[in-house]
Amino acid sequence: MQYLPILQHPDSRLRVKATTVESFDKELANQADKMLATMYDANGIGLAGTQVDFHRRLIVVDVSENRDAPITLVNPEILLIGETVSSEEGCLSIPGVHDTVKRSDRINISAKSIDGSKLEMEAEGMLAICIQHECDHLDGILFIDHLSSLKRKRINEKLKKAPEL
Ligand code: ZN
Repeated sequence: MQYLPILQHPDSRLRVKATTVESFDKELANQADKMLATMYDANGIGLAGTQVDFHRRLIVVDVSENRDAPITLVNPEILLIGETVSSEEGCLSIPGVHDTVKRSDRINISAKSIDGSKLEMEAEGMLAICIQHECDHLDGILFIDHLSSLKRKRINEKLKKAPEL
């Protein structure tokens, strides 16, 4: 399986707003397969198209212990229906940075599956938080955007000082 390069903050392509998927063809299915393989390889629990320079509304997630419950969502729309909770997040596009973000602990999702069929689901806990994080990517939003400007400034300074690997 071919892995996709993951864009790293502050790459400006992470700020591109993804467009709606119109055709549910083999190319889209291949893209989702590659994104899942890339996510598992990088030990992530979610990956958005935006992070691999694919600017259409496609995300993949898997928060299961055994890494055997992949979920692919196309054109996801979420409705926040839970309580606001704080939890620690990281991001494959911002390696080495973790911080606490407030999000809803329960969401309703309407999306399309990879074959274009309609999909409605409810998610809670880590799955709900992960899907909110990935949907943010599709709008060009990073989890550090939810932090205070002081925290964000510190993170950006730290990243600037990090040696090139
Ligand atoms: Zn992320």
